[in-house]
Amino acid sequence: MNDKIIITVAVTGSFPTKEMNPAVPYTPAEIADAAVESYKAGASIAHIHVRDPETGKPDFKVDLFKEVLDRIREKCDMVVNLTTSGLRLTGPDAIVKRLQPVYLRPDICSLDLGSMNFHDRVFNNPPEWSVAAAKCMQENSVKPEIEVFEPGHIRQAIDLIQKGLLDDPPYFQLCMGVKWGIEASPESLLFMRRLLPEKVRWSVMGTGKDQLTMVAMGILMGGNVRVGFEDNIYLSRGVLAKSNAQMVEKTADLAERLGRGVANPQEARSFLGIG
Ligand code: MG
Repeated sequence: MNDKIIITVAVTGSFPTKEMNPAVPYTPAEIADAAVESYKAGASIAHIHVRDPETGKPDFKVDLFKEVLDRIREKCDMVVNLTTSGLRLTGPDAIVKRLQPVYLRPDICSLDLGSMNFHDRVFNNPPEWSVAAAKCMQENSVKPEIEVFEPGHIRQAIDLIQKGLLDDPPYFQLCMGVKWGIEASPESLLFMRRLLPEKVRWSVMGTGKDQLTMVAMGILMGGNVRVGFEDNIYLSRGVLAKSNAQMVEKTADLAERLGRGVANPQEARSFLGIG
């Protein structure tokens, strides 16, 4: 594992609203600004979802992704990770639509491997999706961030590695505490970590009040961590975060106190094998 920690900021996701926390970004400019501000606070990767700029509802228009990507790249060398989760996309062309962000050639795209109940809907990731998505990312030199929400997803990733569809080093995001995936407890995180193959890079995120526990565990276990409004809108118990950057700042401070340096984007690229 790398000594320095990679902090990912997931600035908006698709769940929180401005009614829950007024600092949740909606427009491409707000999303990009939140990423760049977080970069200044120590985040080296920005995980990006897009919203309808008017309503704030989750959106998946490729032009919105492009605008966010361009705006971030204008201002800093942060590693950009575009989602392909497309949780609300259905129908026969869902796979094609979900893969559109890959063709924008960000550094990373998220790759979800297993179907599951996810909050109030089914997160549909059939085997043909995982194979098509891994191939598409490999052909376009986009690093997959393998999001796993329960142990079976890791086994599916190992199958893709054995098929030669995921390049070294495979990069995992252990997503803990999402309804209805594995719970965010220290025991569960240790268990998930043990299931990972050797020589991988991994990061962990926890939702809501479990964000801090999972971040602390990730720092101590030599992994990398993700914070941000996608997973949690509070800075501490009962206190809303004023910005994504505030959460990143707290995380970077904790990492430094626990003896881990914070990786810059160039170091993050090197650790993850991004050319
Ligand atoms: Mg996401």
